[in-house]
Amino acid sequence: MTKTNNDAEQWKVFREDKATPDQILKYYGIFMPPVPVADLARELGVSVQEPINAGWLAALNSSGPRPYLYLCVDSPERKNYAIAHELGHLLLHPFGVYRDLTFHEDEKDEEAHKFAIQLLLPERMLRTAAQVYRNDTVKLSELFRVPDHLLRIRLAGILGL
Ligand SMILES: [Zn+2]
Repeated sequence: MTKTNNDAEQWKVFREDKATPDQILKYYGIFMPPVPVADLARELGVSVQEPINAGWLAALNSSGPRPYLYLCVDSPERKNYAIAHELGHLLLHPFGVYRDLTFHEDEKDEEAHKFAIQLLLPERMLRTAAQVYRNDTVKLSELFRVPDHLLRIRLAGILGL
């Protein structure tokens, strides 16, 4: 992974290198849950804003020199998902404005969704934690600070439950 002298530009490096969620976590030395995605977004050089009553759940503007991420969800767990999903749009998709009403509207959303669950629920971390907590999805979703349904889907995908 290339390293930049200017940390504010790190998102550009990851974008150009097509970095995977696992590579990004390794770069920042994140090996334990929860994955601090809000801190991660700032480290990457993304400005996170929380407008009120925007009419959508989350959005990204990557058309300017600095990316802006907007959150309009309530719980900390949903915020974590929204940040991870928008980071997916930032690193995977053409520059522009993305507005998410449901997070599941088109193919790009599915790619951003996949990126988000890999970032928030890395396979190795989740496998280890699932053994410790004996697949208790309530405890695991608390540990990873993600919405319960997301944890269940990821766990089922990894362990085939
Ligand atoms: Zn989306």
